[in-house]
Amino acid sequence: MGDELLEFYASEALTCPRRIYFRLKGYPERWPEFVKVRLNQGIKTHEVLGDILRKRFGFELEKKMILRSQNLGFEIHGRIDAIRDFPIEIKGKTSLPRLPHDYHLAQLNIYLRWAEAEYGYLYYIKLHDEPTKVIHGIDFSRFPIVKGRNFKAFEVPYDRSLFKDILRQFYTIKKYYEKDEPPKGWNNFMCKFCPYYYLCYGNKE
Ligand code: SF4
Repeated sequence: MGDELLEFYASEALTCPRRIYFRLKGYPERWPEFVKVRLNQGIKTHEVLGDILRKRFGFELEKKMILRSQNLGFEIHGRIDAIRDFPIEIKGKTSLPRLPHDYHLAQLNIYLRWAEAEYGYLYYIKLHDEPTKVIHGIDFSRFPIVKGRNFKAFEVPYDRSLFKDILRQFYTIKKYYEKDEPPKGWNNFMCKFCPYYYLCYGNKE
């Protein structure tokens, strides 16, 4: 089958396999308008918080990483929001979760594996048109455990068995890709945020 390795993204780990399949096959993305608004708010939030991490705490931002497996026939590409001796992944949310989402833990776990770090942090921050307002209310005095009203930080250790689960999932999707057959999707509330909604549910909004 040659040397060509399939490219997965760290942010896809443990997300809907059907969505990953559509992306690999090059179907065009069609983002719903409300998701675009959130994506833009998320970019601004990353910028403001990233700036603090870089200037005050010496982090490198948007660090590119690749994990490659010739045996499995794929690579995992990622861009780590902030890294120093450990990685930090920042998630902007309209409402803060009580516990981290599995797929966010999975994404961070890939970064931990790549960086050979024992633990990292997941920061959830409430999305806002003016993120500086939210970030002003954050207490950095006990960094990296950061506290604030619209903010939640989780310390996350590297998890070897989770990493194996991620590889297994990507490998399964690769098999579907080779067969040209879309795997079953999540079909849940997440579908309305998906750029391939139109493929799974037709053109209705
Ligand atoms: S619409 Fe839902 S099931 Fe279909 S690819 Fe997107 S997330 Fe998966």
